[in-house]
Amino acid sequence: MDNTAQEERSILGPHGLLVTRSSRNQIPLTGILELTYRCNEKCIHCYVIQPGRKTPHELDTDQWKDILRQIASEGTMEITFTGGEVFLRKDLFEILDEARRLHFSIKLSTNGTLIGEKQADALADLKPWEIGVSLYGEDAGTHDAITKSAGSFRKTLHGIELMVSRGIRVKIRSVLMRENLGHEENLAALSEKLGTSFAQDPLLTPKSNGSHDNLVHRLNGSELRAALGVEAKRLFVVDSEQRWESRRQSKLIDNMCKAGVNFFSVNPLGKVLPCVQFQMVAGDLRSQRFHDIWRSAPIFIRLRKTINAHLEGCRDCRLLPICFRCPGEALLSDGDAFGPSSWACLRAGLLDELREESSTTEQHP
Ligand code: SF4
Ligand code: SF4
Repeated sequence: MDNTAQEERSILGPHGLLVTRSSRNQIPLTGILELTYRCNEKCIHCYVIQPGRKTPHELDTDQWKDILRQIASEGTMEITFTGGEVFLRKDLFEILDEARRLHFSIKLSTNGTLIGEKQADALADLKPWEIGVSLYGEDAGTHDAITKSAGSFRKTLHGIELMVSRGIRVKIRSVLMRENLGHEENLAALSEKLGTSFAQDPLLTPKSNGSHDNLVHRLNGSELRAALGVEAKRLFVVDSEQRWESRRQSKLIDNMCKAGVNFFSVNPLGKVLPCVQFQMVAGDLRSQRFHDIWRSAPIFIRLRKTINAHLEGCRDCRLLPICFRCPGEALLSDGDAFGPSSWACLRAGLLDELREESSTTEQHP
């Protein structure tokens, strides 16, 4: 290893180095494969448009296996399989076995309701990196009202317990919305009791067809302010003027995010997108090779060239250092992936208020 590489490695660590180098060399390090839009739950906030009983256009087993071989030869190392609900695909383990044969690091997102002893054993054999399970409350009343599926809480918990007992790493993933606001601590405590890790986010994306119907469940300003208290404490590390400015400078030269840079997704119909949350079609794997789409699709080329300093409305924004803007969400909510997101502006503004309040309290205890 030359001196520059050694220096980079000591600053970034092995994983950071991998992310940086894959971005620099445009290697599609990570991908999300949406195996199906079908789901056995009907979550009130979900962005996926469910297709009903017939899904004539879903890719079949051989097509998915071929895609896995294509992306393996492009350098992809980590895949997240998601849906819809992935366990509704009868060929799930055939696809996962091919992914294992190709030595991918495997993650899976599921609601856990269809995981019994047999599925848990098969998952344990597969040695996945992590299984993400959606859980929205610490009690059946809260969770089942959000999934609109009676009994789903009990089934999800059972699936989690079966996996944890086999040594599978499970992460509970939750969305914070009006219907489960105030349950955060209890849900985190349940996660600890179950032996899983836990992540929760208040970002709720419009439906993938552009409908905003599901946004009625988004937290309003005062609810979000209350929920951000904990996050704000973590962010106060950027408080000093010097740190704020250095964070700002490094964000200005960053890409918007890794979508299209070293990250991609494929939807159940074979369309390649920058991300599941970013509904711009880069190409179609039914008629094109992944290599050609990844190298030449105009949207991918644009995303790789775009840094935050190019974004009208964001580049001069004071809040840039504490802004978590998702271009996919900005596109669906505000109509422009390359402009401000009203949700991100609200969130960053509230974080800033909390930051200022905290520094005033610290000066006048
Ligand atoms: S910021 Fe949005 S578009 Fe980018 S990777 Fe994250 S979810 Fe996807
Ligand atoms: S999205 Fe809003 S808060 Fe974020 S940098 Fe752009 S203008 Fe500022």
